[in-house]
Amino acid sequence: MQGMMMHRPLSIISILEYAAEAHAGSGIVTLETHGEVTRQSYGETYQRVGQLAHALKAMGIDPGDRVATLAWNNRRHFELYYAISGIGGICHTINPRLSAEQMIYIVNHAEDRVIFVDATFLPILAALREHLPKELRIVVMADHDHMPDTELEVFCYEGLIDGQKTTYDWPELDENTAASLCYTSGTTGNPKGALYSHRSTVLHALMVGTILGPALPSGDNGETNILPVVPLFHVNAWGLPYAAPIIGANLVMPGPGLDGENLWKLMEAENVGSAWGVPTVWMGLLGEIEKQGRKPAALEDVVVGGSAAPRSMIETFEKMGVNVNHAWGMTEMSPIGTHGVMPPWVNDLPFDEKMNYKQLQGRRCFGVDLKIVDEEGNRQPHDGEAIGELFVRGNAVVSGYFKNEEATAAALDAEGWFGTGDVASIGKDGFLTIQDRAKDLIKSGGEWISSIDLENAAMSHPGIANCAAIGVAHPKWDERPVLVAVAAKDTKPSLDELREHMSVHFAKWQLPDDVVWVDELPLTATGKVSKLNLRKQLADYKHP
Ligand code: ADP
Repeated sequence: MQGMMMHRPLSIISILEYAAEAHAGSGIVTLETHGEVTRQSYGETYQRVGQLAHALKAMGIDPGDRVATLAWNNRRHFELYYAISGIGGICHTINPRLSAEQMIYIVNHAEDRVIFVDATFLPILAALREHLPKELRIVVMADHDHMPDTELEVFCYEGLIDGQKTTYDWPELDENTAASLCYTSGTTGNPKGALYSHRSTVLHALMVGTILGPALPSGDNGETNILPVVPLFHVNAWGLPYAAPIIGANLVMPGPGLDGENLWKLMEAENVGSAWGVPTVWMGLLGEIEKQGRKPAALEDVVVGGSAAPRSMIETFEKMGVNVNHAWGMTEMSPIGTHGVMPPWVNDLPFDEKMNYKQLQGRRCFGVDLKIVDEEGNRQPHDGEAIGELFVRGNAVVSGYFKNEEATAAALDAEGWFGTGDVASIGKDGFLTIQDRAKDLIKSGGEWISSIDLENAAMSHPGIANCAAIGVAHPKWDERPVLVAVAAKDTKPSLDELREHMSVHFAKWQLPDDVVWVDELPLTATGKVSKLNLRKQLADYKHP
């Protein structure tokens, strides 16, 4: 027997329509590309989104058309998210840190018809122009006063929306209609496109809002101010542009100001209670906090993910009264899979024991199923001991890749689960531990060593500011771990001192054979340490 309930299609525009009414006073604060700070309520934003939808229609954007963005986190980028999806188009966010070759590939692969670009990134586009489709139109996300000089033929964002009607008769779309497109950075081969739907996006936003929302701090006036450092061009800023309007939180958009100093100032000025980003970003902020002698006053919560947050970083934040929420996920999962909102029994533990849990990748979100399997695909128990490849299933997980049959065929296992490429264990209490990416595990004499564990242990030495553990080919042992490190001070710890420090957690054979000092670690387009680049740098490495 079927239930007797209405079926209303889940739609992205309904989120903003709701926020404009129910959270009319909340909205978006932006540090604009030209330096000014602007404020715009969700109500005003909804009206501008209506105007933008008319402008897109006037440009000939039809349902299913891809419209690209190459932009910082700002209010216009947010408006594009809603207007493009609202008219049935697909918002394709491009990561400006990709290589020229990757960017040319994805714009052509996505067949973008229009690209909206921040003034900062116009030179990138100018350099690539001849390799991009001739018909691609370019809109600069600025007003008339801030239009940059360029030889490219461009439109002005405010010029396009100026005078358009603020109301729009939004079409009722099938909830499975594609809404946005994000390419993985593709460390090997070409980037692959995750094509999100209205349904997956709304469900993901509800999941993030219900699980993380109640854990977010509210300021003196009861308002929740969230700063997404995670870019809108990286997996929809972890769903925040959709979750924040649902819960009525304000979004504080940092624009191009992503260094520690700018972030500190913006957090302080805008009473930011919660900020979300990858570990490298928080290293910058912690440096500034040290300089200032204190944290930004209202900051009480940091969501960190994208790569393993070092335990030392988590402890530093927690000791200054900032709750750290360590989450795990990936582009193919919209992206959040697990979260670090702690159950009361963990919060009540003594500091060190609590950190043992905080360091893990948290528990799954409702709607995300996890399984670990051995090399033959047999399910492994969730007992905290068994380790296997992590597979996921859920309404916000990809079922394949955009226009890529080969990758689609390889994406799911026989039971229809998606293979993450991560190696993990899951505890009886549901806590996930990511041991490593399968390709980053170090194989020494037939035994595996987790690079994440080595890095955590090394980072807890005060002489190390940042590091990566890499498996380097070895004639006898297959691979041996080598630590590539950035020193925290002028005097560097010796290899013996480091090994001694790390030996508490490891057997002798698991300790790194060598430490290679560098001034900085190479980063990927998504701000993670690029182990691929490090391996290339160490290609001619000779073991001591
Ligand atoms: P890309 O693959 O383009 O870098 P993703 O953001 O999709 O972008 O990367 C997902 C991967 O990042 C995961 O499969 C996992 O290996 C890693 N990752 C994400 N969050 C964490 C975390 N909290 N701890 C450890 N690894 C993480």
